[in-house]
Amino acid sequence: MANRIRILDEKVINRIAAGEVVERPVSVVKELLENAIDAQAVSIRIDIENGGKKLVRVQDNGIGMSHDDAFNALERHATSKLTSERDLVGIATMGFRGEALASIASVSRLKLITREESDPAGTVLVVEGGALRGSEQIGMGVGTIVEVRNLFFNVPVRRKFLKGNETEAGHIRELVTKFALAFPSVGFSYTEDGKVKMDAPPVSSTFERIYTLYSRDVRENLIEVRHETRAGTLHGYVGRPPYARSNLRSVLTFVNGRSVRDRVINSAVSRAFSNLMERGRYPLAILFVDLPPEEVDVNVHPQKAEVRFVRPQEVFDLLVDGVHTALTGAPFRPPPGPLEPILPRPPSTPVLRHMREDKPEQDPERSPSATASAALPGTGQPGSELGPPNQVPECSHPLSLAPQEGRYSALGIVGKLPGSFLVLHDDQDLIVMDHHAAHERLLFDDLLRSDRVGERFESQDLLIPRVFSYPPVEARALASHLDLLHAAGFRIEEFGDNDFAVKGVPSWLNDQDPEPLLNSLIEVMLDTGLRGDPARKREELLKTIACRAAMKESKAMQTEEIRALLCQLDRSGSPAVCPHGRPLTVRMPFSDIRKRMGRKS
Ligand code: ADP
Ligand code: MG
Repeated sequence: MANRIRILDEKVINRIAAGEVVERPVSVVKELLENAIDAQAVSIRIDIENGGKKLVRVQDNGIGMSHDDAFNALERHATSKLTSERDLVGIATMGFRGEALASIASVSRLKLITREESDPAGTVLVVEGGALRGSEQIGMGVGTIVEVRNLFFNVPVRRKFLKGNETEAGHIRELVTKFALAFPSVGFSYTEDGKVKMDAPPVSSTFERIYTLYSRDVRENLIEVRHETRAGTLHGYVGRPPYARSNLRSVLTFVNGRSVRDRVINSAVSRAFSNLMERGRYPLAILFVDLPPEEVDVNVHPQKAEVRFVRPQEVFDLLVDGVHTALTGAPFRPPPGPLEPILPRPPSTPVLRHMREDKPEQDPERSPSATASAALPGTGQPGSELGPPNQVPECSHPLSLAPQEGRYSALGIVGKLPGSFLVLHDDQDLIVMDHHAAHERLLFDDLLRSDRVGERFESQDLLIPRVFSYPPVEARALASHLDLLHAAGFRIEEFGDNDFAVKGVPSWLNDQDPEPLLNSLIEVMLDTGLRGDPARKREELLKTIACRAAMKESKAMQTEEIRALLCQLDRSGSPAVCPHGRPLTVRMPFSDIRKRMGRKS
């Protein structure tokens, strides 16, 4: 068969992002895996010893190479994947620079064993530090084995920079996992010092691959993501909040099948999770972005670990809306036009207003938000006893968002615990709910929606305006957010340089002193971590407001109010975390309780 590999001409060489491909053992594994994938292998075996320092061996059942091509493959800038400068636009293969094998061979003892179908025998080439030491013919099946021993044996300075075996092996494990996720139809087996670390047979979907690679705990917390815009398609899985990790390594992203780390993608994922997760925590995400090849430049990084998007904003929107829709049932940005309120309430009456509307008839002892719940339709008359468990109340309003998995309203109500906890149950679990967190989530979603459509919350005039003075920096921050405060129900006027007259306060404040809230809000306004992202800052302010407005104590809560809250949660379709990322419920399986009681069944 005709040889495929050609040496690139000078012009193309000068245009490919030059640089050292081989930095550590994992770089070797990466290049060899890319070659195996490009060779259409459906089964790949990876063996390493001593973190890859002593040995990296990758064996594939791909198309292999002819006798001559085996020699060509070891030349610098020899490739079968690119012929002209034009091919650099819209690269469809993993490799394209033709320098990996040559670079690896120059810093190791490399053995290339390969056979393509039309050759009767395979070719073995032995190279040491770039110099050919021998070649022979052997009988073998079609495919390729590349064995790389004693990496950097001839470059002691580079060898010194390598980390311990476990660290180097850890990088390789992570890489092999990424390849296994990106190519589910390819079987991967992987050993470290003879011990099998991964054995993933070929499967037909990413989900089946995830099923093999991840623990049950992870699998059960994944939500599927599927989204398509004019920019491209997105599919994959994200961890259900509050399932969070402390570093970005849990966010695995692939662009056109290539594992990349990318700031646009990472910030879109963080953005989609911004009101569902504590700051500084990261979701588990396995996301595949597929774009037309000409929309991505993969030729910007020596190890091809970064890419450049022609239209980064469109990629950002694809990600943020796709992930947000998967999590909440709605895109991140509201569609144009008025929004459907998700809380059951008379048209255009934000839920927070109920607090004051009903206040005059209320017992002064009762907490403000309990009143809010009581005023919601579909809750019946407030009662004083806790009702029988499993009594399912009617949730009479149509669902406007994707309903929550497992209906809250079907839960049995057991009672209240001191603080803000409710005790509930279903057939299998005892469930403790933090109703402050639940309320906060509902209020925040409502505030956010109102903010986006420009709705204002009701305010209560103060008989005597309160005057607050702030140092200049605080005063400026406050002055620049007066519109948000007005929308939330404050009436504040600036007078003089640093003074503000508070003439009205939100009804939901329920006669509480506005000063501590204003102070907390100013703190958020001054948070430098949010500099340059006004939308995020606005959301942080709304979170602070929601936290203040949500009721803290469950003492005064009536059963009907608890039911109303559960109904609201069903309708909201909101994720089961408060806006800061804390879970709304904790479950204790009855089976665990039985076990701890020493019961056999
Ligand atoms: P690149 O992948 O950028 O082309 P490499 O140096 O990695 O450069 O490989 C050079 C060439 O060797 C490839 O273009 C391909 O033709 C051939 N080759 C390398 N590895 C394999 C393999 N596992 N199976 C078949 N052909 C391979
Ligand atoms: Mg390659």
